[in-house]
Parts: sequence; structure tokens; C-alpha cells
Amino acid sequence: RVFNFNAGPGTLPEVALAQAAKDIVNYQNKGLGIMEMSHRSKEFMAIADQTEALLRELMAIPDSYRVLFLQGGASSQFFMVPMNLLAGDAKATYLDTGTWSTKAIKEARQFGTIDVAYSGKAENYRRIPQPDAYQIDDDSSYLYLVSNNTIFGTQFAAFPNSSKMLIADMSSDILSRPIEVGSFGLIFAGAQKNLGPAGVTIVVIREDLLDRAPDSVPTMLRYKTHAEKGSMFNTPPCFAIYVVGEVLKWLKAQGGVPAMAERNEEKARLLYQLIDSSDYYRGHAEPDSRSRMNVAFNLPTADLESKFVAEATAQGMIGLKGHRSVGGCRASIYNAFPLDGVRRLVAFMEEFAGANPA
Ligand code: PLP
Repeated sequence: RVFNFNAGPGTLPEVALAQAAKDIVNYQNKGLGIMEMSHRSKEFMAIADQTEALLRELMAIPDSYRVLFLQGGASSQFFMVPMNLLAGDAKATYLDTGTWSTKAIKEARQFGTIDVAYSGKAENYRRIPQPDAYQIDDDSSYLYLVSNNTIFGTQFAAFPNSSKMLIADMSSDILSRPIEVGSFGLIFAGAQKNLGPAGVTIVVIREDLLDRAPDSVPTMLRYKTHAEKGSMFNTPPCFAIYVVGEVLKWLKAQGGVPAMAERNEEKARLLYQLIDSSDYYRGHAEPDSRSRMNVAFNLPTADLESKFVAEATAQGMIGLKGHRSVGGCRASIYNAFPLDGVRRLVAFMEEFAGANPA
């Protein structure tokens, strides 16, 4: 297998994939594969229950929260959140820290008054705001943020200590570090980075919020519909949920979220240390805003960046090209990305800088 630095879908744990490869053909000797089983069969119900239980355990999700397995990608949460939570002409506050918050703001504006209390756009999103950099109006219903900005390689090191309910898009850093679920009203994450395959989106929602949706919200788009039916109002993304379960088993066996956090810290440290000690590589994010999941950096010229990506690919390190809106390079080093792969990249970066002077 190559070292896969793609931003998502990204690397998944090999043991989870190997188990899935077996179960696709014949799940636990039942004579049929995981994708062929009824979602209402006792086997699949057990898988869904176990996946939810593992997520609850690993994230220490309080009993007053519901876990939902939805479809439509994280992008559907950009409208589902305000559609369900902003009744009437209510107001919400958003922090614009990159592409994914910009998209969420655009959708939210269809459902209420949206106050963008901070935008990092003028600085090409290289920074996460300190709490004193913005103000939240008293009549705002919630404060929305993207915990890790996949494209720009920035991440909230700490969450705002606000009296407002926090809503977070954790698509690219869920389960990468311990968080206090109780400080959030709602957390969502597309699975295809730290959780499993594309096709399922996890929503963790505080129970009392289920009743906020106005009557005009269509049945499928109401959180309550899915909460009441245990995410089985309609056919859920069965295979994706199953793989998430296998990934969570792996994560638990590794020592859970604290062990992941330690490992992620070490992987990111190796890369940023090289970037800081070199004049050749420039990190995109301000040091206090750096992501432990996506390390975005530039080389002296665009031509050198292309050469860098091509040579890395030839050496079995794929997916290092930066997002088109930032350019440069990006190493996505999610939970399942091995430390060895980061060491390999660091060695390659040193060699490349030596062999290709600016
Ligand atoms: N939010 C973040 C932070 C992301 O990184 C992404 C995708 O990369 C999305 C949302 C959109 O996810 P989806 O493609 O599942 O709609």
C-alpha cells in the first residue's frame, strides 16, 4: 500500500478494510454479504447499535445526546442545521475560517439572520480567531464554527468559552483529540476522513434541540424524524455504517481518543518542525492556528511544487497536492495515517530541498 496523504476520502486502518473485504462476500458465515442484508435484520441492527455504542464510548457522549447516521454528506448539514434550529427570523453567529464555513454561511442565510462575527478571508484563512477578535450578539441562537479547516490547514486549538450554544463541523478532526461533547449543541462530521467511507454523516445532537424545527421542514430533513426511528426512518447507508464500526473497533484497540491525540500530535510535530527549521518550506497557517490533521505548505515556486508532488508520487507518497484554492502542497495525516509515512515524507522533504535549490 502507498502512503495516502489525500484529504478525504483518506487513509483508513488496514485491519478494518481487511475485515470489510471478507464481510462483503460472507458476513459471519451467514451466506450473504454485508451489503445484501436487510437493514432491519437482527444482524444489521446489532451492527448499527454497536457502532453507536462505540462512538458514545470513545467520545464520552452524554445520555442527553442522540447519535444519528444520515446521508447527504456534511454539506447537507450546512442547511439542516439552520433549517432545524433557526425558527422564524432568529439570528445565528458564524465564524468564517475557510471554504467550508463560507458554504455553511451561504446556506444558513436562507433560514435566518446570519452574523459573520469573524472572517479570515482577507488573510487567505491562515488564522483561527482568538475569542477577543469577535463579538457575539445577545440575541444569537448559536455560534457555528468549523473545528478543523481541511483546505487551509488550520484548527481550533481550544473552543470558544461562550455562553452561546456551539455548533461544530468536525468533519476533518472528529475523534482526533478529546473534546467535551457537553459544550456543543450539535456536532456533525462526514465520515470520509477519520471515521470511514463517504456516504454516512454522523450527527451528535442534544436531545432538547429535536423539537425546535418549524412545521415547514420536510420529514426527511428533520433531525427528530431520524432520532425517533434510530436512523432507520428510511434505508440507512448500511455499508458505510458497518465500516465506521470497524474503524471504531480499531480506534478503541489503539487506546482510544487520547492515544490518537498523542500520535497525531507527534506526526504533526515532525512536519511542522521541519517546516520551521527550513527556509525552503513555508507553512500556510499561523503557528498558533496550525492543524494536526492537514499540514498545508508551499515550496519556493509553483514549478518546484509540481516537481515535488510528482517525485513523491513516484516514491509511493500520493495525494500531496494542495487544494486548488490555496495551491502548494498539503499532507493530510488523519488518525489512520501511520507515523512511518510521516517520517518517510520528512526525509523526502529534506532530500528534495537539498537536490532542488530555489
Ligand atoms: N466540512 C469539512 C470540514 C470538510 O472538510 C468537508 C469535505 O472535505 C465538508 C464539510 C464537506 O463534506 P461532504 O463532501 O461530505 O459534503
